[in-house]
Amino acid sequence: MAITYHDLYLKTRMALSSAGIEAAQLEAREILCAAAEKTAEELYRDISLYTTDAIAEKTEALQARRLAGEPIAYLLGEWSFCGLPFFVSPAALIPRVDTEMLAQLAMNRLKEHPGHTRILDLCAGTGCVGLTAAALLKNTRAVLVDLSDGALDLCKRNIRRHKLTGRAVSLKGDALQAPSHALGQFDVLVCNPPYIPTGDLAALDTSVKDFEPLLALDGGEDGLDFYRGITELWQPALKPGGHLLYEVGIGQAEKVAWLLVKAGYENIRITRDTGGIDRVVEGQRPKEREIPDMLHETMEEDV
Ligand code: GLN
Repeated sequence: MAITYHDLYLKTRMALSSAGIEAAQLEAREILCAAAEKTAEELYRDISLYTTDAIAEKTEALQARRLAGEPIAYLLGEWSFCGLPFFVSPAALIPRVDTEMLAQLAMNRLKEHPGHTRILDLCAGTGCVGLTAAALLKNTRAVLVDLSDGALDLCKRNIRRHKLTGRAVSLKGDALQAPSHALGQFDVLVCNPPYIPTGDLAALDTSVKDFEPLLALDGGEDGLDFYRGITELWQPALKPGGHLLYEVGIGQAEKVAWLLVKAGYENIRITRDTGGIDRVVEGQRPKEREIPDMLHETMEEDV
């Protein structure tokens, strides 16, 4: 039976809100746009027209996946971070609003370094943090490192999406192993590692624990494995005076700050996210050991 976009929208919205989905209005619109391959503007323009059976079926299929708990971002295949669109897939965490503070502070620190700058995004996932910096700061080059092939695939797609092939690369690497010298040194090392204590994983929301990758969430017994490993092993990848910035989970900021103090970092700072949670812990590698200029130049040639 022929049905208009408007009727299909109302039907979808009703199904989502009866299932307790808070943003039913917004999600119904996004599902319809994805099924019909229309922008929101095109959907509003065509709202009183008849849709096709294929679009109605596609809408129902997406709605069923959503009702089974799958995050809307995975249904859509993309999500926005710091106002920029990023491809997403179940191979990487969906970019969180909380993480925008990490990207913002990383960009602030990059701006403190004169001339061309390099940022390393470790455990990059979609690459949203490093690529936001490269997209918004034209003098910045980004290296995205992740252990997961699926995440690296997303990084590559996001690099191309933002036309950053000249200034960003993705590489396979393990954050818990010492970095290769070939990476050179960076002005900023930014990392949103897995930080949920293993024992807390079972209590996460269904949409997180059943759909997002465990590899990106499990931070070991106390959730701090990656902070310990990276703080100990990755300092050589920072230029003297370079900044290390971590996103941390609730209640972890002070412990992570101590790890930085013990490793000799200076100017330790803790910053809250917009929800009032201590979210970013950062420190600066001491400046005193200057690297000869010649060495700087060779290192800056590789991205
Ligand atoms: N913030 C994420 C969550 O609470 C976890 C992110 C992470 O482990 N890096 O689901």
